[in-house]
Amino acid sequence: MSDVAAIFETMSYGPAPEADAAARAWLAAHGARFGLYINGQWVAPVGAAATFDCRNPATGEHLAAIAIAGPADVDAAVAAAAAAAPAWAKRRGHERARVLYALARLVQKSSRVLAVLESLDNGKPIRETRDIDVPLVARHFYHHAGWAQLLAQEAPQMLPLGVVGQVIPWNFPLLMLAWKLAPALACGNTVVLKPAEFTSLTALYFAELCSEAGVPPGVVNIVTGAAETGQALVDHPVVAKIAFTGSTEVGRMIRSRTAGSGKRLSLELGGKSPFIVLEDADLDGAVEGLIDAIWFNQGEVCCAGSRLLVEESVAARLLEKIKARLANFRIGNPLDKCIDMGAIVDPIQRERIDRLVGQAESEGGQVWRAPLGFPAAGSYYPPTLITHLGSANTAWREEIFGPVLAVMSFRSVAEAQQLANNSRYGLSATIWSENINRALELANAVKAGVVWINCTNQFDAACPFGGIKESGYGREGGLLGLQEYLKPPREWLAETTVRLPAGELRSGASGGDPIDRTAKQYIGGRQMRPDGGETRLVATHDGRAAGRVSVGNRKDIRDAVEAACGAESWAKATAHLRAQILYFIAENLSIRAREFKARLVDLTGVTAAAARREVAASIERLFSYAAWADKFEGAVHRPPARQLVLSVHEPLGVIGVVCPDALPLLGLISLIAPVIALGNRCVAVPSERYPLLATDFYQVLDTSDLPGGVVNIVTGASESLAKTLAEHDQLDGLWYHGTAAGSRLIEAASIGNLKRTWVNDGHARDWWSPQSGEGRAFLAAASQVKTIWLPYGD
Ligand code: NAD
Repeated sequence: MSDVAAIFETMSYGPAPEADAAARAWLAAHGARFGLYINGQWVAPVGAAATFDCRNPATGEHLAAIAIAGPADVDAAVAAAAAAAPAWAKRRGHERARVLYALARLVQKSSRVLAVLESLDNGKPIRETRDIDVPLVARHFYHHAGWAQLLAQEAPQMLPLGVVGQVIPWNFPLLMLAWKLAPALACGNTVVLKPAEFTSLTALYFAELCSEAGVPPGVVNIVTGAAETGQALVDHPVVAKIAFTGSTEVGRMIRSRTAGSGKRLSLELGGKSPFIVLEDADLDGAVEGLIDAIWFNQGEVCCAGSRLLVEESVAARLLEKIKARLANFRIGNPLDKCIDMGAIVDPIQRERIDRLVGQAESEGGQVWRAPLGFPAAGSYYPPTLITHLGSANTAWREEIFGPVLAVMSFRSVAEAQQLANNSRYGLSATIWSENINRALELANAVKAGVVWINCTNQFDAACPFGGIKESGYGREGGLLGLQEYLKPPREWLAETTVRLPAGELRSGASGGDPIDRTAKQYIGGRQMRPDGGETRLVATHDGRAAGRVSVGNRKDIRDAVEAACGAESWAKATAHLRAQILYFIAENLSIRAREFKARLVDLTGVTAAAARREVAASIERLFSYAAWADKFEGAVHRPPARQLVLSVHEPLGVIGVVCPDALPLLGLISLIAPVIALGNRCVAVPSERYPLLATDFYQVLDTSDLPGGVVNIVTGASESLAKTLAEHDQLDGLWYHGTAAGSRLIEAASIGNLKRTWVNDGHARDWWSPQSGEGRAFLAAASQVKTIWLPYGD
């Protein structure tokens, strides 16, 4: 054997620990005790001055005592942010850009100490904090410095929201801080941020960078603490938006606590993401991908590829390769540059992982733990595989948030797709295949916010990241991420809405008309009698009987949602076809314009001219969305690595629309048209006061080639039908135009499947104006973005 080969064969790794002196000196300079960063200064918490322990998970060593912010401290932080907000918002974009740029530079200059602190605090390998977390943090601030500079041109007139509350998890402490702070600041908001209780140190270090970078006092405030501190921030009445990253369980709680408050909300929640290996995949590449998918950051990654789906023909070979690769893994001191996996963030989390693995085993899963040694003192867990799973097994369904891979095989791509999508989560998916056509087809079919093809766990500041279903809503990164922190100058008319009473008949008035004019429900493209068999008379504006209408109930809503779910092929219809059908609807409405005008006059009592105007505006709105159908485009991003990243708009799915009483025809069409233009199906609850406009309108739909089930109309008591829709777990979104109390109810009732809600908080919208009554805001609410990553080159 040659000398080199001999050395190669016998050489064993020696530890190469990163020096931690600078990080420890910083801790010592603070006496290993931290207060809160409020209004640009360190302050002690008011009152009891309680602290919690910050420990190194790799050793259990105490690192620092961290202040727990109580409600009074959160109040002080919000007050500081509110005081700083007007001046920060008024600054020119260039001035904000300079501050963000200074932060990016300072992160780079402090990169070593930040990387070490993060590893000490979280347990993740220095290799990752040094090469992934901290460089991405800097990139985020650079990218958003650019947005601050360009915002006035790219989003003219848009305004910041004011004070933003941000709550982040422990798995990527500094990176999550950057994802939250950079866009908020770029847009001119001020922030109160709460880091996770296990990992506050890098946020506290960053606070000092803010002072150094010239962030004005009060623009960034950092309050440490656990759930109660987060809750005080979430509940604070001055906070205009909550941006949350964390577990689905807490996300639900936050949705319900902010219901009806008018606060904007974005939720980046948990996941159970599929990692799909097709038989034509480069298996060695797929193994390296899996290492990054589930053993990166000890598997404590929201978008970890924790469910391996492998084509049966290559399953045994792939498992063998994974085991062989893991046999050479190194677990140990996170500061050692030679290790692959560090420590689990806290013994509590390690026990949770172990409990879930035990449960999976007791349910029939076969558990294989990589036969590796690791230090006894710290909070370590070996890479683990679980096979022989059924789809009901805990390991297949639940987010374990640790280095545990659940494995299943499949026989056809259709089965892979079905297994991948059979999850309440929808954060990400990875596809490994040498056949780009198959990979892209699958990418199109999987239900996830992010799809990686032949790569995994890729992130960039320019590329939207976020989930669907119970993985949350809202996107971080790029222009889409910025939109979460901006509002239009005028969204609502000043007045608030009330529901109009159903309308009273003059005494003695009856149906009068010899023809039976009971309007039925419109479900699955057919007129259906209401389930309860109940109908009621509808009054004209002057108390005559205009006709009868069905009174829908829970069962009618269920049937309508089912019909809408069954019309899924609409999502696959070409945008061109959807546009043609919208034009056709407009044309048919136009033919019956006189009839609709007369109906409006009769029911609402408006003048003939006003009614004519409403019908004309409704036809124009249909034209608008026919035009939009093939023009609401995604984007292509070019992150620093060699990848093409596509942001594709996909329909949200089935959307409920609860219509306003005002302008009953224009209101209805303004809500239905954007929904169907983008390939969604809808269940509409028309104005309770004027339902006959909607029941007349379905006759127009019937003659316009719209497939059955794409639009369903259920008449009845708006508020109770709205609540039923909010509680329905097969609905993906719900738009509500009604009262403030109704808005609160809808948001609170939406938490079952975390459907996306869009409510008016009791405000009236100006349906006449194209700026307020149509356009991108409606299209954005009717769609979700899928980000598809495609690497290129060898
Ligand atoms: P967690 O939900 O327990 O905590 C997250 C944050 O919320 C922490 O700062 C915590 O103190 C705070 N919090 C807890 N209860 C609260 C309450 N009632 N009100 C307000 N704030 C409260 O989650 P975690 O254990 O820190 O993090 C792990 C979870 O985060 C996983 O489910 C993971 O998937 C998810 N995560 C998601 C993403 C994403 O982008 N989708 C990214 C990272 C982590």
